[in-house]
Amino acid sequence: MSIVAIVGRPNVGKSTLFNRLVGMRKAIVDDTAGTTRDRHYGTSDWNGREFSVIDTGGYALGGEDVFEEEIRKQVLLAIDESDVVIFMVEVATGITDLDMVVADLLRRSAKKVLLVVNKVDNNDQIYGSHEFYALGLGDPYCISTMSGSGTGDLLDAVVAAL
Ligand code: GDP
Ligand code: MG
Repeated sequence: MSIVAIVGRPNVGKSTLFNRLVGMRKAIVDDTAGTTRDRHYGTSDWNGREFSVIDTGGYALGGEDVFEEEIRKQVLLAIDESDVVIFMVEVATGITDLDMVVADLLRRSAKKVLLVVNKVDNNDQIYGSHEFYALGLGDPYCISTMSGSGTGDLLDAVVAAL
């Protein structure tokens, strides 16, 4: 089965998307950055196409360097074991240093990457997504994993990329 990995820095909404895709069974969502320490695996389907989903996490709490090292490991592992990578960022914060670290690793890989700007909870916030073009990973998909808006278009793109 094809594998889709969700990567991105802590707190952008990876586990919330995973839960939405897999059906509220596997991953733990926590408000505290870095508390989802394990990788979670599940299966999902869209328009009759089944695929596995990996929710990455496992960020050790500690200084910025530890954080960056952990995120590098997670992203390299995701690149290695998945067919498609969903790279999630968050609209309100804009591009952070950790986002740049992840984007650099993904751009250097040959893997199909879908850039997702999360927490676009209302239409006005779509304008804030434009700056993410600067990550060099193409058109961002604007979604709100909370409300589900935009997730249909994202899933269309995911299954098209499998
Ligand atoms: P992760 O660390 O990337 O796995 O992020 P989580 O899925 O644990 O979410 C981190 C926080 O962001 C939680 O408080 C979520 O409820 C919140 N969150 C996730 N998706 C959305 C969204 O679409 N909109 C808003 N406003 N908050 C969200
Ligand atoms: Mg998480």
